[in-house]
Amino acid sequence: MSEATKPIWFTAPEVNQPATALPEHVRSMLHGIGLGISVLAAAKVTCWADLDGVLPEPLRLTDTQMSLVNANTHVLGLLRPKSKVAICPVCGRWQMYSSTAPSRCNMSLHCDGKPVQAKPFRRAEVPPED
Ligand SMILES: [Zn+2]
Repeated sequence: MSEATKPIWFTAPEVNQPATALPEHVRSMLHGIGLGISVLAAAKVTCWADLDGVLPEPLRLTDTQMSLVNANTHVLGLLRPKSKVAICPVCGRWQMYSSTAPSRCNMSLHCDGKPVQAKPFRRAEVPPED
C-alpha cells in the first residue's frame, strides 16, 4: 500500500450537548447520519446512490460505524451536498434543511423539543475506539 492510499477512518465530532443527555436511538441516528455525510464528502460523490453499495478505498468504517450507517440509509439516500439533518430528541422525528438549523421542533404538533444537528465526523488516520 502506497503512501497515497493510507486508510481514512472517521471519528465522532465534538458535540455541544453531552451525548448522554440524548436518548440512545437519537444519538445512534445522529452518529449514523453524521458518518454518512462524512463518507459522501470523502468519497466525493453527490448522493448516496452513487456509492453503489460500496465503501470506496481508502475509506474505512468500524463494524459499529457500518451498522450505524446502514441503519440510516433511508435518510442518507435523500441527502445532497450541503444538506443538513436535524433530529428532535423529544419526538424523534428528523428533517433536512439547507440554511439555518431549526431552533425548536416544528416536526410534530405541540412538541417542545430542540432539534440537534447531525454533525459530520472528522477524518482520522487511526481507527476510533468503538
Ligand atoms: Zn419534536
